[in-house]
Amino acid sequence: MNAEHDCYLDYNASTPLHPQVLERFIQVSQECFANPSSSHSFGQKAQMIIEQTRETIARVLGCKRNEVWFTSGGTESNNWFLKMAVEPDKGRSHLVVSSIEHKSILKTAEFLERSQRAKLSVCPVSPKGSVSLEGLASKLVPETRLVSVMLANNETGILQPLSEIVSMCQSRSIWVHTDAVAALGKIPIHFSQLGVDALSLSGHKLYAPKGVGVLILREGLELEPLIHGCGQQCGRRSGTENVAGVAAFGKAIELLQDGVFGAKTIAQYTQELQEKLQTELPLQPLFHGQGERLSNTLSVAFPGYSGHTLLQLLSNRGIFVSAGAAANTGEPSSVLKAMQVSEDLARSTLRISLGWGNTSGDIQRFVETLKDILKKGEAKSA
Ligand code: PMP
Repeated sequence: MNAEHDCYLDYNASTPLHPQVLERFIQVSQECFANPSSSHSFGQKAQMIIEQTRETIARVLGCKRNEVWFTSGGTESNNWFLKMAVEPDKGRSHLVVSSIEHKSILKTAEFLERSQRAKLSVCPVSPKGSVSLEGLASKLVPETRLVSVMLANNETGILQPLSEIVSMCQSRSIWVHTDAVAALGKIPIHFSQLGVDALSLSGHKLYAPKGVGVLILREGLELEPLIHGCGQQCGRRSGTENVAGVAAFGKAIELLQDGVFGAKTIAQYTQELQEKLQTELPLQPLFHGQGERLSNTLSVAFPGYSGHTLLQLLSNRGIFVSAGAAANTGEPSSVLKAMQVSEDLARSTLRISLGWGNTSGDIQRFVETLKDILKKGEAKSA
């Protein structure tokens, strides 16, 4: 991307490195490159950085340091919890996930079912995109081991009723996992107040590098490792730690606590964009809802137009958005489908997600360019 001329509005897909995060990444890469498992003092210095980062994450996100486990990202954290939490031997191998989960939950759950390691129920959402509590209650059976519902949806930004879900599950001794990848940096996250048993995070959604993530796992919850090897991280997650990535993620978490990413300004720009779209391009259905949602995310349909073509035409002009999630190539969004949005409308939808670094000029440019593209009719669907 040419930073001077391009307009990036796809922060839910990934974020740029914040300069202070990059600085920390480079510093640790250069100064602490030893293997953190080495017994010499250079190795121990690298180990110390990992432990300090654990401490920072625990302090900011309201958990204990021994509840923080570093992984390669959100996908691994989600895989680890789901694959290791089901207990076919003990008869508690039923799991429930919501229909709007990220593919790293849905595909993992489907794999567990296909390989007969678990029975799976998928819990519906309302047309407004939030998990139906009655729907969830009707899925719970004595064999249910875990429920996985994301904190906020990455496509629509809609927040999910986690505290109600936790209350419902706790009384039945069912573990609750939440994928907080999309929520991190946009709403406050406090692990112990949420009351969940496990929570997944990813660095690259918070101005940190790709390839580093976290699983916060409630103390006392013994989970077998997903990745076996030399026994790093107390034997629970083997593999030489990504020290610089971990340190950079820790820096991003510190910056988050200091309010550096400007959530208020981002929310204002997002609101400004929504208003402009509604006044200058009326009659666009909005799927990001009116209620509790991430204040940086818009999900907007342009009936009669193809979202993918719009995305490409915008991209040709240096403006970057998504049609659904970044990884949904071609298929209409499964999230919108779960919300009972028609296939035609789902195919005409764009996700616009703002972040640190966006300006009022970006909003102006996006709206003007979009108006021009729509006027020319190049993106009309067949
Ligand atoms: N969960 C959600 C909600 C996400 O948006 C993503 C990234 N698209 C992931 C999980 C996977 O995270 P990662 O890219 O770090 O594997």
